[in-house]
Amino acid sequence: MKVFKFGGASVKDAGAVKNAAAILKKYPKENIIVVISAMGKTTNALERLTNAFFYSDNKEAEKPEAIAILNEIKKYHFDIIEELFPDKSHPIYNEINNSFVELDWAVEEAPAHSYDHEYDQIVSIGEIVSTKIVNAYLNEAGIPCKWRDVRDFIQTDNTFREGKVDLELTESLVKKHLSPVFASEEGAIVVTQGFIGGTSENFTTTLGREGSDYTAAILAFAANAESVTIWKDVPGILNADPKWFDETKKIEQLSYQDAIELAYYGATVIHPKTIKPLQNKKIPLYVKSFLNPEEIGTVINEDQSPLPVPCFIFKINQVLLSISPKDFSFIAEENFSSIFKLFAQQHVKINMMQNSAISFSVCIDNDPGKLPELIKTLQKEYRVLYNENLELITIRYYDQATIGRVTIDKKVLLEVKSRYTVQLVVQKSN
Ligand code: ASP
Ligand code: MG
Repeated sequence: MKVFKFGGASVKDAGAVKNAAAILKKYPKENIIVVISAMGKTTNALERLTNAFFYSDNKEAEKPEAIAILNEIKKYHFDIIEELFPDKSHPIYNEINNSFVELDWAVEEAPAHSYDHEYDQIVSIGEIVSTKIVNAYLNEAGIPCKWRDVRDFIQTDNTFREGKVDLELTESLVKKHLSPVFASEEGAIVVTQGFIGGTSENFTTTLGREGSDYTAAILAFAANAESVTIWKDVPGILNADPKWFDETKKIEQLSYQDAIELAYYGATVIHPKTIKPLQNKKIPLYVKSFLNPEEIGTVINEDQSPLPVPCFIFKINQVLLSISPKDFSFIAEENFSSIFKLFAQQHVKINMMQNSAISFSVCIDNDPGKLPELIKTLQKEYRVLYNENLELITIRYYDQATIGRVTIDKKVLLEVKSRYTVQLVVQKSN
């Protein structure tokens, strides 16, 4: 059995949904679990809806901003439905109406739970409606498939917006709910949601933004799938983000370890949590273009060969903090543990670090919601200097020439090298 994941861009309009159907048509006798994200930018719109609902001054009564956003979301989906289903008496019209009624009700009430809890109940509707629409269209287009609610088998704790998956329980529930479907017929297709899960109290959780890749990996793990394919709008995994680099190369094969390292350093191609479940069961992951489905794309698997080209990860808007004990004592174990504790408590992720005898340097994202508080807390015990407007360049499989090329016109403030990876904190020289 295979797992396919279609992200938001691959179902962003009626044409895209038809294209996804055309791809599935090429696999007539396969058993496939199809994991689908919310359509296009729906998750962003639902986030705005959640904010308008939660932070409205009008706690009980109508919330005009929330209602306006909700109407936009409905219109976007019904425009797609009208193009896919010219027959207005098709049951999908009613079904999607019913899904949105849940949001109408939710928005009318005053928030009853924490922000994160409310967020998950609202934002998850994007995946519910996208999978219902695609499932109905596939059946209409002669690709019989079954819709399943992923919340029945992906079980998480109640950490809303960052649900921790109970893999063991999920594995047994996947067997219980999906095995019968695949056992009873050849070439069965199950359509289900990415990004969301359920708790033991039947609340909905989400697994973190862009979490559908992770869903695909969890289901592949639980169902012992032979492979996962992520269908994207790029030809595969590239050695650099075309947003920042003119010349990029497609990587044909990548080891699990390299994939984890790249995701860790901030490559955005695949969700960082995706690789571990696949690596644990040695399930290959294919990244392929939904625009050119015949092209080979990239495979991530056990083959440990080093990459033939350097890979670049570029982060802008970085801050370099230099933290030193006020009394000039050494930076040693005790200081480290108190510093790391502060970072963990304030949920600040360290992108790079280095220490000398009396100072500890860390590079972090310049997040205005977190940085001032972090600095204030650190300053109680340490002297803190900081430098803003920096860039962090990570190169895996670097060589000196590559470092030279990316640092032209730049001042290198800090450099950390390991055998395969170099990280450079740089400042544009004026
Ligand atoms: N729809 C969710 C998001 O946009 C999950 C995903 O696309 O992977 O974050
Ligand atoms: Mg998405």
